[in-house]
Amino acid sequence: MSPTTPGATDGRRGLLERMAEGPLLCAEGYVFELERRGYLQAGGFVPEVVLDHPEVLAQLHRDFLHAGSDVVEALTYYAHREKLRAVGQQHLLEPLNRQALAIAGEVAADSGALVAGNLSNSNVFEPDDQASGRLVRQMFDEQLGWAVDAGVDYVIAETFSYAQEALIALELIKRTPLPAVITLAVHRAPRTREGWPVDQACRRLADAGADVVGLNCARGPRTMLPLLAPVTAVVDVPVAALPVPYRTHDHQPSFQSLRDPDHDRLPADRPFPTALDPFTCTRYEIADFTRTARELGVAYLGLCCGAGPHHVRAMAEALGRTPPASRYSPDMSRHAFLGADRWARPADRRFSRDY
Ligand SMILES: [Zn+2]
Repeated sequence: MSPTTPGATDGRRGLLERMAEGPLLCAEGYVFELERRGYLQAGGFVPEVVLDHPEVLAQLHRDFLHAGSDVVEALTYYAHREKLRAVGQQHLLEPLNRQALAIAGEVAADSGALVAGNLSNSNVFEPDDQASGRLVRQMFDEQLGWAVDAGVDYVIAETFSYAQEALIALELIKRTPLPAVITLAVHRAPRTREGWPVDQACRRLADAGADVVGLNCARGPRTMLPLLAPVTAVVDVPVAALPVPYRTHDHQPSFQSLRDPDHDRLPADRPFPTALDPFTCTRYEIADFTRTARELGVAYLGLCCGAGPHHVRAMAEALGRTPPASRYSPDMSRHAFLGADRWARPADRRFSRDY
């Protein structure tokens, strides 16, 4: 493996080379999308779909590439030892991880996309509990080993509420030759769970060697944006922003905190995670977010839980790209009632004012 192109083992350009030329787009949100499609159970959110329906996962990877993602992220989110133990499937730990990585690699090979390995929040980490730190290291280390074996281009370690857990993931990734993209999930309070200011947490991650730092999940575009400028101001590495595509706002800044006044009899007493539909951002809001984030200097863009391919395409197009899916981007001039004179009869255009 060349030291100048970590991860790029076959002459392809690696993460850092691509980012030197412009922003990178990484589609995420696999777990939510597969849940909506009926192949993954909300609650545990363990990606057993990797083994049960590999063809469905491969198609979703292709859908996101078609929409403009530069990256195929292996679906090893929540495929760690603790999560599999919680659903009584610990024996599937290694085959599930290896298969997720293999599927990502196969899909990417057809397209030239980058392949990313993935580590995620363990939900067992406690800052003052050294035993939990040892357990997390063990969990991350085994997943990293499988990612390295699979020849991924880089590793995404994401959705950490505790910056200290992110630092553990980073330390372990730095022992491999692979670049590290580290992103934190910031909930209602604009700081990490241990109370660190977001910009300082990102600074510590950058100082510890992260190649890209930033935020993913938890917050929608409107409430993630104000946290990004302070981060770009204090780090020298590219900054990442992958919000959830939901209309969070000042009073309910995370998607977990959203409340629906029109529907208060929900399974978890809140819209999260299975009744968020009324809060979904339009593709146009995602395009606006993309342009604003670029103006702030964000260089690694994507979307997390809740994103569909139409959101990803909007993001790609806001970056000035025309992914294959742009062939089918809207052209309302052709609409039978709302379209241009050539396509809509005058009587139908008049009718459309009241319909
Ligand atoms: Zn997410």
